[in-house]
Amino acid sequence: MTVNLLGFGRRELALYCATLGEKPFRAKQLLHWMHQSGAADFSVMTDISKVLRERLSVEAAIDGPTVVQDTVAADGTRKWLMDVGTGNAIETVFIPETSRGTLCISSQAGCALECSFCATGRQGFNRNLGVAEIIGQLWWANKCLGAYDRAKGDIRAISNVVMMGMGEPLANFDNVVAAMQLMLDDDAYGLSRRRVTLSTSGLVPAMDRLRDACPVALAVSLHAPNDALRNELVPINKKYPIRELLAACVRYIEKAPRDFVTFEYVLLDGVNDSVAQARELAETVKSTPCKINLIPFNAFPGSGYLRSKPDAMARFRDVLLHAGLVATTRKTRGDDIAAACGQLAGQVRDKTRRAARRVIAQTARESQSVSEVVQ
Ligand code: SAH
Ligand code: SF4
Repeated sequence: MTVNLLGFGRRELALYCATLGEKPFRAKQLLHWMHQSGAADFSVMTDISKVLRERLSVEAAIDGPTVVQDTVAADGTRKWLMDVGTGNAIETVFIPETSRGTLCISSQAGCALECSFCATGRQGFNRNLGVAEIIGQLWWANKCLGAYDRAKGDIRAISNVVMMGMGEPLANFDNVVAAMQLMLDDDAYGLSRRRVTLSTSGLVPAMDRLRDACPVALAVSLHAPNDALRNELVPINKKYPIRELLAACVRYIEKAPRDFVTFEYVLLDGVNDSVAQARELAETVKSTPCKINLIPFNAFPGSGYLRSKPDAMARFRDVLLHAGLVATTRKTRGDDIAAACGQLAGQVRDKTRRAARRVIAQTARESQSVSEVVQ
């Protein structure tokens, strides 16, 4: 069996080279070729001896993702659907802007956390992605966007990475951290910690581990001003309520590359978008150094929610601004190709049988309401 070197970090590559009787500096050469030149083949690695290249071609591989669909939205947002085997597919999204390009990367096939307004959460969960599958999304996007084409100069199409695609990155901690370490490694992608953002729904113990292992910029999906509503929208809140979550944010900031965390707040019509809720939110976060990113809800079939009206969104933001908070409204990108936040659904073979459980619950509710009517 061949080993896939794409997901190997500096240390693993050095260990692997040692097993071949090679010096550790080979690891650096391999990192450069794979991640700075986009090599998919050992034969191009001209500073490595022919004998070693031939041996690597037999015993190792550089296996990138299997891309099954490539779609470009009217606003230039680009989405790749990648087959990750056994009937599962994940999505990666590139968002070009005038002064930067952001790649939104998936960490799991599906998600086990069941946030009520999220298409990925609705699908159920199949499995964690491996390191090669996570870093392979950046490797592939760079290739597609021509960033490896030296003739065109240093293009750097991707200046920022956000771990905000399908899945909860902190529920796949080791693989996500290993992939992010490659993003930060100067011999691989060389991104600064400020330009890599991880978004979490709030797995408190893992936030503490991240602070010690790889403190990148942090975004936290808050979405509600109090526990009662957050329990409904983001069910992991029942395990790690807002007070504990905010304390973890403050601990995180001690080591973070920025002196604030970003709170994400998706605005759902009539659910969490009132003026009173904006005031309550301002009160809730007042002791946590933060910026608030208001996200217009992106619809998907059967979501059961509506996007807040533009005036409600503006009022909500103004209340936060008046309270002295920094609040911005996120521009929706790529929604015509279902590439916007929360619309990523790829294809997931749900091992949690969530869809089946939902049907059973629905049927139970319906038969209960029928019996109420009959009585
Ligand atoms: N699991 C992580 C990261 C992936 S989701 C997390 O929950 O933070 C990335 C962001 O998109 C999160 O803030 C999430 O709450 C938000 N999101 C999910 N569904 C959405 C939808 N339908 N419309 C807008 N944003 C959504
Ligand atoms: Fe999972 Fe994030 Fe979607 Fe919640 S919002 S279900 S944590 S991907």
